[in-house]
Amino acid sequence: MLIETFTVGSLSTNCYIVSSQQTKDTVIIDPGLDSSLEAEQIFDYIKQAALNVKLIVNTHGHPDHISGDAIFQEKYRVPICIHRFDAPSVEGLENKNFPAAVLLEDASLIKCGNESLKVMHTPGHTPGSICLLGERLVFTGDTLFAGGIGRTDFPGGSDSDMRLSLQKLMRLPDYFLIYPGHGPSSIMGEEKRINPFLTS
Ligand SMILES: [Zn+2]
Ligand SMILES: [Zn+2]
Repeated sequence: MLIETFTVGSLSTNCYIVSSQQTKDTVIIDPGLDSSLEAEQIFDYIKQAALNVKLIVNTHGHPDHISGDAIFQEKYRVPICIHRFDAPSVEGLENKNFPAAVLLEDASLIKCGNESLKVMHTPGHTPGSICLLGERLVFTGDTLFAGGIGRTDFPGGSDSDMRLSLQKLMRLPDYFLIYPGHGPSSIMGEEKRINPFLTS
């Protein structure tokens, strides 16, 4: 699984382009663009690497993660995948001429060539926040950051849900790489040691 990171939008969201080295099948995670101009560098990368974009996946429904959905859907004519609890956020963003949104649940599988990402429902930041589990890595959206966690004081946020979600993430092996929705990547073992929200 090849991962390319583009930091986009005024809130510096990490948009991840995840592709299979064998088949070139590709999933776009959280295209939170401010403008279509920002999409150009990502379009160029996808074109140069000859990738086949299959899906757009949103880790949750906040604007800084979904604002480029329509631009990418227009370009690649692929469905948007989002947990069903955050799905209302993408209604209206979708182009009605293209495939409808795919509603995700806990344990849904997102295929990427001969590999897949498994959905882990991790509510707390939003009701439909998800993490995406690969073989040795996890995309954590705004649930877990290097050294921090996502806010729970937005509408739909929940402290108690967040605590349970973090407990689920804590069960991942120390060698798992963490790719968060904002900021630098990290390693699970490191977060278990230094992240105050995981150690307390
Ligand atoms: Zn968010
Ligand atoms: Zn965010």
